[in-house]
Amino acid sequence: MTRVVGLRCRECGRRFPAALRSVCDSCWGPLEVEYDYNHISNLIDRDTITGRAPTMWRYFELLPIEDSTHTVDLGDGGTPLHHCQRLGKELGLKELYIKNDTMNPTSSFKDRPASVGVSKCLEFGITTVGCASTGNLAPAVAAHAAKAGLRCVVLVPHDIEASKIVQTSAYGAQVIRVKGTYDDANRLGILAAEHFGWGLANINVRSFYVEGSKTVAYETCEQLGWEPPDITIIPVASGGLLSATHRAFKELEELGWVDQRKTRLVGSQPRGCAPIVEAFRKGSEIEPVEEPKTIAKSLAIGSPASGYEALDAVKETGGSMDSPSDGETLEAIRLLGGVEGVFAEPAGAIPLATLMRLRDAGEVDASDRVVLFVTGSGFKAPETVLRVVEEPLVTEPTLDALRSVVQGG
Ligand SMILES: *Cc1c(COP(=O)(O)O)cnc(C)c1O
Ligand SMILES: [Zn+2]
Repeated sequence: MTRVVGLRCRECGRRFPAALRSVCDSCWGPLEVEYDYNHISNLIDRDTITGRAPTMWRYFELLPIEDSTHTVDLGDGGTPLHHCQRLGKELGLKELYIKNDTMNPTSSFKDRPASVGVSKCLEFGITTVGCASTGNLAPAVAAHAAKAGLRCVVLVPHDIEASKIVQTSAYGAQVIRVKGTYDDANRLGILAAEHFGWGLANINVRSFYVEGSKTVAYETCEQLGWEPPDITIIPVASGGLLSATHRAFKELEELGWVDQRKTRLVGSQPRGCAPIVEAFRKGSEIEPVEEPKTIAKSLAIGSPASGYEALDAVKETGGSMDSPSDGETLEAIRLLGGVEGVFAEPAGAIPLATLMRLRDAGEVDASDRVVLFVTGSGFKAPETVLRVVEEPLVTEPTLDALRSVVQGG
């Protein structure tokens, strides 16, 4: 009896053993991990989970790692769900929550899939791990590789924020800046994984890696007393997090841990790189964006690997998609910090920008229970946040001088 049955092609349904492969031989469709939920429900229930240590690994049985000694755990997940009374009041919502994933070990939600991806590499006996990254996956994989004692090589587009490179290097990884976009880095990664036998989390380990992202949704439901939200708003780059959230909600239904009541999934991409949103609006194929232009660099993926799965998830749940401008996202950063005490990077604030647009369009009811996934910390992109905050005042060290610069004393 095993929990993980194998891998299954999302397009043609063909089955494969749970080995190092992420696309289908017959149709190039993406492969998904298949579980035996009957078996899993004999192993765990809601009480087993809540009795365990508060990290994402309390959901071990719903993750594709066979042997628990292989888990590489930096205390990932287990992040707070804040009830936002002040912001909710400003927006006219009774039940607004922030799932604060900036509180992860490397300050973004990417620790969740990276933790699973690196654990799986350890299980496969791979000695060099890495990824192609828009910025947050690189430090997340690097930190877990360090913890596991594995070599780490990451490929990043040349223009990502300095702080993300410094952070990755501090974890001892080799950072390689690729002269091109994220998609160029990703294509190079596909060749490198094949040629050097590397385990690249979001490339040849992708089917396993994306499973880690499910834990944001499990935790959210658990923290809401197993009452799923009416609306969940999610930042979208490759579509991995949104698709994983959908699978997670379906699994909790399948296990009978939550009611069939569906949560509407809303995806948010920046206006300067919104290939999935465009396809949603036009009802067309996803057309790659050649040159993403946005302050939300973590979301600058022109050719999204899980784009169709994300589209299906939004449609199936009766959700929607939206693409706020950079200006609206900056305003959302200011509100999250100034009204709720949560410091977000642009990609983490974009769900709030979308919520404000949905509210203005009358698509949210005052009574809706809304959860925003705030996925990355403002420390990741200080040069961008600087654009919306006030300059410090300067004073001589006397009370008189201070009185002349501050208003109202
Ligand atoms: C990677 C990332 C996302 C979404 O990524 P997907 O590729 O769609 O899973 C969202 N927010 C932040 C901060 C990220 O780094
Ligand atoms: Zn197939």
